[in-house]
Amino acid sequence: MKGVCSLLSSNEEIHRLVNAIALKNASEHSGSTNVNTVLSRILSLKPELKKEIKTLIEEIKVVVDSVNKLDLEQQIKYLDSTYSKDNLLDPKSRHEHVDSHPLPELEVSESQVVTRFPPEPNGYPHIGHAKAVIIDEEYARVYNGKLILRFDDTNPMNEKLEYYDAIRNDLEWLGVKPDIIKNTSDDIKILHELGKKITTNGYAYVCTCEINNIRTMRMQQVECPCRSNFDNSEYNQERLDKLFDGTYHQNEAIIRFRGNMQDKNTVMRDPTLFRIIEAPHPLLGQKVTVWPTYDFAAPVEDSLDGVTHALRTKEYELRNALYQDILDRLELRKPKVVEFSRLEFENMPVSKRKIKKLIDDGMIEGWDDPRLLTLSALRRRGFDPKAIRSFVLSLGLTLAETKPPFKTLESINRKIIDPITIRLFFVKDPIMLFVQDGKDTKVKLNNHPTSSLGTREVEVSNVIYISRDDAVALTKDEHVRLMELYNVKINEIDLENKKIITASYLNNEIIKDMKKIQWVSEKNMTKYKIIIPKEIYQNDRFNPESLEKIEGYAESSILQLKSRTPVQFVRFGFCITEEKFTAIFIHR
Ligand SMILES: [Zn+2]
Repeated sequence: MKGVCSLLSSNEEIHRLVNAIALKNASEHSGSTNVNTVLSRILSLKPELKKEIKTLIEEIKVVVDSVNKLDLEQQIKYLDSTYSKDNLLDPKSRHEHVDSHPLPELEVSESQVVTRFPPEPNGYPHIGHAKAVIIDEEYARVYNGKLILRFDDTNPMNEKLEYYDAIRNDLEWLGVKPDIIKNTSDDIKILHELGKKITTNGYAYVCTCEINNIRTMRMQQVECPCRSNFDNSEYNQERLDKLFDGTYHQNEAIIRFRGNMQDKNTVMRDPTLFRIIEAPHPLLGQKVTVWPTYDFAAPVEDSLDGVTHALRTKEYELRNALYQDILDRLELRKPKVVEFSRLEFENMPVSKRKIKKLIDDGMIEGWDDPRLLTLSALRRRGFDPKAIRSFVLSLGLTLAETKPPFKTLESINRKIIDPITIRLFFVKDPIMLFVQDGKDTKVKLNNHPTSSLGTREVEVSNVIYISRDDAVALTKDEHVRLMELYNVKINEIDLENKKIITASYLNNEIIKDMKKIQWVSEKNMTKYKIIIPKEIYQNDRFNPESLEKIEGYAESSILQLKSRTPVQFVRFGFCITEEKFTAIFIHR
């Protein structure tokens, strides 16, 4: 059949184009597409293919079949890679699209790749954690390896059971499935043994200096007396015993790594490996008081857990030398450290310290305040976990410290939720529109223009409400269409006194270019409030106007929706129902 080999089968570009169109169409329509839609779209882009229509249809059939077998998440993922690489589809819509940076290959020498995500249970996880754990998981899956979720719980002062739970729940919501879940505190005995070993072997020492002196001596690059007595192993051993038997109390003694006080990298100037913390630990209570720092626990745990690739954000860069040195001194296997950049957004803090302060000061409601970027806030605000995953993967493993626009995440989310979200009318700051000769009627409205999301029946009298924004733009004698209802002619506008507009019924034809506005009927409406979260910081200060509340009328059928249902208010934006008469704005 070689002779039939056409322009199409030999043309990789056409194949990719068919794929891209099918994926795009499917991702916009609840995950399914069909031959006719793809055909008409491709012919509009490449009319010359009409000559080969039979072969083209065969090709499309195969592609449509395989695309429909994917789930929505996969479709979006593939679309993101095909679409941006080729820039095949409408180039105008490119600004809506995220450039995709596929994850670079790992250097693999072990039989199985093992990654880990090590959050400290000292707050709620945010979108930066999502980036880390999704990349960790993606690598584990790609290489058919394992992902470990390890709670790095070695500072009882800041840790709470509530945070372990929050991290577990939010990762589950994200769709992350760790193969192993453990706590660093599970291994406290081993960590103590290794702490003693590194000290007795002469690579660390017990320091009983006052904390401010330690700081000053670090800056002045001076060794403290405890280190100078270091060669006296009996002296050192005695102090080590006192540290572990409870003779010393909090702030009275620490174990310090024997680094180099002259090192330009201040991390290496005898950093702390263990300290005494007497606050009860959320899991172990007061049984343990000697706790390793993250600097000691992270490399040791990574090594013992069999981690092959330790992915860390770039702010740990200066700590990498210490990470390697500790493992060298303990003669433990060294995982490869892979760095990536932290995910940050303009004017939206993710720092736990900042968020805790805002909560304590009563500026925000809690960890799930819709202005925050914690995962619980994003969930409450109507973001689909698939959008977060797709967004994070689109950023890839770049090291550049860039702040991607939040709009990119919104646009990915919009693509996912639009085909499954019903549309209703909402009018902000309602103004009455009195249709003088309007008769009582019922109209059936579609809940979505293209997806099959059902219909609703709306009773209409001659009293209708429109939003003030639309009302002020009207002029006398203007013809406008009340969307999906009928056309009216504006007679009188009195927004100052009676706050009313009078109009008369015109006809029900669809007339091209006629202004269209949304409305609600007096017979079918409810008071409704929408909360709009905005950037929480402005010029590094809390923005007191970061939570706008607007009121208006919505179609009363909104009251039948369950809490936490997304809805698109036409010409207004996507919202998610919260309480009975309130929704939170997601994005336009
Ligand atoms: Zn000292």
